[in-house]
Amino acid sequence: MIFKDKDLQCADCNKDFIFTAAEQEEFESRGYTNSPRRCTSCRNERKARQNSSTVGSYRNDSNIDRTRRQMFPAVCSECKKETQVPFKPSENKLVYCSNCYNKVRTGR
Ligand SMILES: [Zn+2]
Ligand SMILES: [Zn+2]
Repeated sequence: MIFKDKDLQCADCNKDFIFTAAEQEEFESRGYTNSPRRCTSCRNERKARQNSSTVGSYRNDSNIDRTRRQMFPAVCSECKKETQVPFKPSENKLVYCSNCYNKVRTGR
């Protein structure tokens, strides 16, 4: 099959662009039967935007997960250092920092 350069109009920027014979050949080899609806620069822009948005949302999600695990400021009953605990500390409950918690657990 012989390909010829085709003049097409971009659906995004309405500019005329050339769907070159080489591009048509590539399309054909990938099994695409439709002509591209966008010029090369608009296609690249779309691709870049999609890539960055998926990467960005993935990163945001993992950040939200980490901050959503609520931590409460507390003072360690053992060494009086400020620490954070994953539960709401109450007056009559002993709170330990991770160091002292391990000490208390293994020491008794
Ligand atoms: Zn375009
Ligand atoms: Zn401590």
